[in-house]
Amino acid sequence: MFEYSIKENCLTNKTILVTGAGAGIGKEAAITYAKLGATVILLGKTVKKLEAVYDEIIALGLAEPAIVPLDLKGATKQNYIDMSSTIASQFGKLDGALLNASTLGELTPFTQIHEQVFSDVMQVNVNAQYLLAQALIPTLLLTEKASLVFTSSSVGSQGRAYWGPYSISKFATEGLMQVIADEYENSSLRTNAINPGATNTNMRASAFPAEDKEKLATTADIMPLYVYLMSDDSLAVNGQTIKAQ
Ligand code: NAP
Repeated sequence: MFEYSIKENCLTNKTILVTGAGAGIGKEAAITYAKLGATVILLGKTVKKLEAVYDEIIALGLAEPAIVPLDLKGATKQNYIDMSSTIASQFGKLDGALLNASTLGELTPFTQIHEQVFSDVMQVNVNAQYLLAQALIPTLLLTEKASLVFTSSSVGSQGRAYWGPYSISKFATEGLMQVIADEYENSSLRTNAINPGATNTNMRASAFPAEDKEKLATTADIMPLYVYLMSDDSLAVNGQTIKAQ
C-alpha cells in the first residue's frame, strides 16, 4: 500500500470535486475528504446514489456537500463550462478535482469489439475527461495550490488481452495527465494520476465475478494516496502516475 500517514483536518478549507462520487472508490474518497475538512462537490450519474453520499456526510456533521448530477456519456462541453463557472461563483475557488468516474465497457476479443461500446468507453473515459479538465483548469487556477487527479489502471501502461476499449482509454488518460502536467509545470496547478490497483468495487466485480473479494483491497485501504495528492504534502509532485497499492 502507498505509505502516507493522514493528518487530521489536512483538507480544511479546501473545495474538492469528485466524479463518480456515488459508488466505489469515488464515494469513499468523497467521504474521506469531507472527514478531513473539505467541502466536497459530488458529481455522478445516479442522483439517488449521490443523495445517499450527501446524507452520510450531513449525518456525520461535516461541511454540506454540493451535488452535480451529470452523465459523462451525454454531457456537453457547455455543461462542463457551466459547472466550472458555478463552482467559481458559489465557492470562489476549486482546490482539487478527482476525475474518478469511468466505465469498463465489455471485456471481449479485439476482433469482436463492438463499435458502439468502443465509442461509449472513449466518450466517458477520454472525451469527458478532456472536456472536464479543460473547463475546470481556469477555476483550479484561482487558487495558489490546486491538484488535478486523473484515474488510470494497470492496463493504462501495459495493454492486456480482451481489455481493449478500457485499456486503450486508460493509456489516453495517462497521456492527458502528462500533457496537462507539462503545460502547467510552472504554475500553481499540479496534475497526476492514480492507479488504484485491484479494489473491491462493482467495477472490479463485473470484470472478475468469480474471484474471492475478501482478498481484495477495500476502498478505505487505498485512501492514503487519494488524500496525499489532495493535501499540501504533494505540492511538488507533478506528472506522475502513482500506484495506490
Ligand atoms: P465503480 O464502483 O463502478 O464506480 C464508478 C463510478 O463512476 C460510479 O459512481 C458511477 O456512477 C460513475 N460513473 C460511471 N459512468 C458514469 C457516467 N457516464 N457519468 C457519470 N458517472 C459515471 O468503479 P470503481 O471501481 O470505484 O472505479 C473508480 C475508478 O478507478 C475508475 O476510473 C476505474 O477505472 C478505476 N480503477 C478501479 C479499479 C478497481 O479494481 N476497482 C482498478 C483500476 C482502476 P453510477 O454508480 O451512478 O453509475
